[in-house]
Amino acid sequence: MKISALKLTTPYLELDSLFFDKVEPTPLLRPYLISASKNAAKLLGLHDNTLSEELLVKIVNGSHKLEGSETFAMCYAGHQFGYFVPRLGDGRAINLGKVNGWNLQLKGAGKTLYSRQGDGRAVLRSSIREYLMSEAMYGLGIATSRALALIGSDTDVAREYWEKGAIVLRLSPTWVRFGTFEYFALKGRHDKLQKLADYVIDESFPHLKNTEGMYLKMYEEIVKNTATTIAQWQSVGFNHGVMNTDNMSIDGRTIDYGPFAFLDDYDTNYICNHTDAEGRYSFKNQPGIAHWNLAQLARALTSIVSHEQTQKLLDTYFGMTYEAKYLSMMFAKMGLFESDTKDVELVKWMLGTLQNASIDYTAFFRKLSCYDGNKSDILDLCIYKTDLEEWLEAYELRLQNEKITLIERHTKMLAVNPKYILKNHILQEAIEEAKQGNFSMIEDLLKVAHTPFGEHEQLEYLCKATPLKAKNIKLSCSS
Ligand code: AMP
Ligand code: MG
Repeated sequence: MKISALKLTTPYLELDSLFFDKVEPTPLLRPYLISASKNAAKLLGLHDNTLSEELLVKIVNGSHKLEGSETFAMCYAGHQFGYFVPRLGDGRAINLGKVNGWNLQLKGAGKTLYSRQGDGRAVLRSSIREYLMSEAMYGLGIATSRALALIGSDTDVAREYWEKGAIVLRLSPTWVRFGTFEYFALKGRHDKLQKLADYVIDESFPHLKNTEGMYLKMYEEIVKNTATTIAQWQSVGFNHGVMNTDNMSIDGRTIDYGPFAFLDDYDTNYICNHTDAEGRYSFKNQPGIAHWNLAQLARALTSIVSHEQTQKLLDTYFGMTYEAKYLSMMFAKMGLFESDTKDVELVKWMLGTLQNASIDYTAFFRKLSCYDGNKSDILDLCIYKTDLEEWLEAYELRLQNEKITLIERHTKMLAVNPKYILKNHILQEAIEEAKQGNFSMIEDLLKVAHTPFGEHEQLEYLCKATPLKAKNIKLSCSS
């Protein structure tokens, strides 16, 4: 299908006007296409060759309306850094409508009713990060919003210094957030809250429609999906950085990419967000914060489902789901396919060892995937070697219980331990190049984002070791 043939619907607008504000995008000056993801375009049934069309730029810039599109911003509240903010909403995201189960949204398309002090814009730097990271999370098999296209422009945007405005056309099966429920709960609009729950069931959990106890079942799925996503973050070493309840998708996927980071050296205390002085959203706190956020959602749902039931469900299922998913992923990363009661201890021991060794988390597992008894290959990656050497001896002993061949184990491990992770220092290089008008690195990164477990001989430069000064750095929230 050609992009001009897309026909959108706007089911969210069938909820009443308390839920949104109709607003037109404010186009950027002299927009140009930086990149488009063919892989994401397929989700809408689009042909590759329509992505270079001038029309795509106009659509992303909000200057061409697709058939059926009605533009609007969504209203929500949220707990930001633990404090409740009664009204947030899409301050710089404008929704276009829905096609093929995906809601299209322009991030950076101008002011809305919910912009507060903001300018409604997103800068090139943060837009490149969100565009690539959305696609990389998908490549890693982690539930996420997607990004179809990225445009740059000549519009000046004020941040710490003048930057250029950009827009990402992003897609998600839902843009409802925990904070959307919190908004109606605070207002005491229980009729609206129930309408929202019905909408969420229709959109994200249609199999629950009209079943007995469907709101409790909806909450159960949200708990399990969220626990699964966070377990995946922890296993791959991803720090989101701003886990406010308004940044928590109701279907548990990863959304709203800001000052995120992948761990360089394994450090469970790592805080990627520069403004998060106390480390509320540090790497190690992510599971606990997800639980806390789910508890806020449970509280917001009390008018339609008993708090006692949701609380009990949260306490039962979150930890159980998280632990089961996390451990199964860690066992796979380590190549442990037979079960052994001492494996949990082996994981804990390994993490403690990595924490003290000064070793790159991703590189460690990629090397471990090819481990054949030669310890020096792995020990060369770290500064403090003694503990890791001791652990490797125990690991080697444990591997003797495995039934598959060495080659089989290597193949399986290489398929779950990515070689290409979008580290901040690499993204930063791509951003610097893009500021000079060179977008080839963005295309290279998009390629490895979609195939992070593969080998790309020409693209080895994208997985070079992080320079010392760039290791586990903190990022500014301004975007
Ligand atoms: P975030 O933590 O980036 O998801 O943003 C929190 C809230 O601030 C959301 O409601 C955003 O829409 C809003 N926001 C962030 N940046 C801007 C901006 N430049 N202009 C308007 N609203 C913004
Ligand atoms: Mg947000």
